[in-house]
Amino acid sequence: MAARSRERSSALLQRARQVMPGGVNSPVRAFRSVGGDPPFIARGKGARVWDADDNEYLDYVCSWGPLILGHAPPRILEAIAEAAAQGTSFGAPTEREVLFAELIRKLVPSIEKLRLVSSGTEATMSALRLARGFTGRDKVLKVEGGYHGHGDSFLVRAGSGAMTFGVPDSAGVPAGVAADTLTIPYNDLDAACRMFAQQGHEIAALIIEPVAGNMGVVPPLPGYLEGLRDATRRAGSLLILDEVITGFRVAPGGAQALYRVQPDLTCLGKIIGGGLPVGAYGGRAEIMDRVAPDGPVYQAGTLSGNPLAVAAGHAALTALVELAPHADLERRSARLVDGMLAAARERGIPLCVNRVASMFTPFFTEGPVVDYATAKKSDVKRYARFHAEMLSRGVYLAPSQFEAAFLSTAHTDDDIARTLEAGRAALAAL
Ligand code: PMP
Repeated sequence: MAARSRERSSALLQRARQVMPGGVNSPVRAFRSVGGDPPFIARGKGARVWDADDNEYLDYVCSWGPLILGHAPPRILEAIAEAAAQGTSFGAPTEREVLFAELIRKLVPSIEKLRLVSSGTEATMSALRLARGFTGRDKVLKVEGGYHGHGDSFLVRAGSGAMTFGVPDSAGVPAGVAADTLTIPYNDLDAACRMFAQQGHEIAALIIEPVAGNMGVVPPLPGYLEGLRDATRRAGSLLILDEVITGFRVAPGGAQALYRVQPDLTCLGKIIGGGLPVGAYGGRAEIMDRVAPDGPVYQAGTLSGNPLAVAAGHAALTALVELAPHADLERRSARLVDGMLAAARERGIPLCVNRVASMFTPFFTEGPVVDYATAKKSDVKRYARFHAEMLSRGVYLAPSQFEAAFLSTAHTDDDIARTLEAGRAALAAL
C-alpha cells in the first residue's frame, strides 16, 4: 500500500514543537523510538481513529488502556452530557462520587475505602505517601521496568517512556528520594525474599503492577504474587497493587481477582475514568482512615471527584457489569495473537507475544520475556519497522516496544481479520 499522506499532521507537529517539548504532552506520543512523525488524531469512533489528514486507523492503543468500550461509546457520551448540563465542577461533595465509590468497592472487595484523584500518577504518589505515613517507614520497593507514573520515587529503573528513551532514572529526582527507592527484578521471588530479609524493617511498601505492562506485557509467574503477599506481610510492609492498567481490564475485579491476591492498597486509573481523567487509591479501611481529614496523611485535589469524570467512569463500569465482555475480549485477543505468532513462524521471524486477557505485547525475540532484562533483548529496531509497516496499513500500535496493545469491545472479528492481514504483509516487508 502506498505511504499515506500525513501533511497536516506533520505541519501540526512543526507548530507544536514551538510551544511544547517535543511537540507533545506525554513523551512516547512523539514517536521518537519508532521514527516518523505521529499522526495528530482528529476523532475516534468504536475501534477506529482518524487523523488530521483523514487517514483511518484501527486503534490498538485505545488511549493507553482506558477505552475498553472503544472510542466515543454512546452511553458514556450521554453520561458526560447529562453531568455537564448540571455544572462541570463544584469542589464540593456530590452524590455521584458516593455511587461511584460504592460501585468500585463492590467490584474490588479488597477496597474498603477509597479516595478519587485525577490521574494514575496521583493515585500511586498518594498511595505511597499513605504507606509511609501508616508504617512510619521511608523506603519503597519496586520492580525494574515497573512504571507507576512520574512521581519522583518511581523514576528509578522505570519502565514505559522512561525505558523507551533510556532514562529509567530521570534527571531532577533528588538523590535522597532515589536512595529510598529499592528495586528488584520482576518475577524473581528469591530476590524479593532476600530484599525483605535484609531491609524489610525499613520498607513501607512494595508497589507492583500485578501484570507488568510498562516493559511490554509480562505476566506474573505462578506463585510470584502470592509469594510477594507472604513476604510483605512477614516484613510488616504494605503490598500496593498498581492496577492502573489491569483494573477492570484483565478481569472484572482486576488482576487481584484473576490471581487471587489480596493487596493492602490498590491504585486504579484509566478504565475507571471511561476516557476522562480519573484515578483512585483505596484499600483496607484501617489504612485509608489515615488519610486527611480523618488522619494525618495529607492529600487533596481541586478537581478530585470531578462530576464529568465520575459520570464517565460510572457509566464505563456499569457498562462492563452489564455487558460482561471479558470472555469475548479474551477470545478475540487470543485469535489475534495466535494469528500473529503463526504468521511470524511461517516467515521464520523470532516473535514472542505475551498476553493476559486483552492486553498484549509482541516482542521481536525468541523469548521467553519474563522480566526487564529479557524484555530488553527484543529487537527494538525491528519493532519500529513493524510499527511503521502497520501504520501505513492503517493499524495503529503503541509507538514503543515497551508498552501494551489493547483490545476494546468495539474491535470486531472482522477488525481482527483485517489486522492479521496487515500483520502478515508487515512481517513480509520487514
Ligand atoms: N501506573 C501504571 C501501571 C501505569 O501504566 C500508568 C500510566 N501508563 C500510571 C501508573 C500513571 O498513570 P497516569 O499516566 O494516568 O498518570
